[in-house]
Amino acid sequence: MLVRGGLLVERSPELPGTRGRPSPVFDTVPTGATVLAVDLAVEGFRLAVVGLGGRVLSRHEWPWDPAASTEQSVATLVERLRGAARRRTAAPYQAVGVACWGIVRGRDGFVHLAPNLGWRDVALGALLSDGLGAGRAGAGGLVQHVVVANDADLGAVAEYRRGAGAGARRLLYVHSDVGVGGGIVHEGTVLGASGGYAGEIGHMTVDPRGVRCRCGAVGCWETEVDERALLRAAGVPDPPEPASLAGAVAGVLEDARAGRPAAVEAVRIVSTALGTGLASLVHILGPDRIVLGGYLADLYALSPVPTRRVLQERGFSAEARDVPILPASRRADASFLGAAEYALEPLLSDPAAVLRPR
Ligand SMILES: [Zn+2]
Repeated sequence: MLVRGGLLVERSPELPGTRGRPSPVFDTVPTGATVLAVDLAVEGFRLAVVGLGGRVLSRHEWPWDPAASTEQSVATLVERLRGAARRRTAAPYQAVGVACWGIVRGRDGFVHLAPNLGWRDVALGALLSDGLGAGRAGAGGLVQHVVVANDADLGAVAEYRRGAGAGARRLLYVHSDVGVGGGIVHEGTVLGASGGYAGEIGHMTVDPRGVRCRCGAVGCWETEVDERALLRAAGVPDPPEPASLAGAVAGVLEDARAGRPAAVEAVRIVSTALGTGLASLVHILGPDRIVLGGYLADLYALSPVPTRRVLQERGFSAEARDVPILPASRRADASFLGAAEYALEPLLSDPAAVLRPR
């Protein structure tokens, strides 16, 4: 079925000297199924055409029009995706996977809140499905399937399938730049809640007398471990432009590496807070591996000891105390790769049901 559908090609095995009829060897056809993977960033949206096997075939980027309303921005996104989908109608399977930083309802891609974009209650999954005729093969439909998911869930999928989480039974992925997000993959499946919202680990309360969070509550975990928390701990003013934040954070990490006391102390404080939250999550979720994404990968690589120490002190089993923690390995393309894996799921679980008749 996969060969007939154009997803695999058979080639001769290269095993000279072996006896008997060799087993057939198959290669994936990267263009046999493509996903238009979209990352909704603050400055604009990035599109990667991703083929089978996680191969990025092409990339495009468009800035948002700052004067546009949310409706207009979504309409522009639909238009660009229609253009990209029309250029690839020869692929037997084509799907759209969108990574959105914010609170997204998994089952229908409804964006409850995307703080970086200023979007609130946008039925993004339904709007994209309508605009691209998802599932209407042969009747003007351009794609078979549209998924919209939380960035951290997609990062978790990317790391589980093709990164530092490969081989884990239950992977906890924790990502932080501005804010903290997380995803849990258990034996290949992303865990979600019945309403579709889950994994908002950045908003677990760690200090009711702490700092006010952008969600409105006080003392959420992300107020102690995200990039702004590190700057605050180091006494570095928060840059007014969000685009300058990563540079300011890299500066603090560099200072800590050089042994400057204020930065070393800031890294110690934030790494300890990271351990405190991870200890709770380990006890609740029981992961057998933790992968850290975003700036946390750099923070942990620089200073693992305070985080590990908290787990040693608080863990009540050997599994909790010694759970492996690794920096993410697919950082640049995590959301693209995750979106592609997610959008390919219906194809890989039931190819006959979703492939177009050829
Ligand atoms: Zn919060």
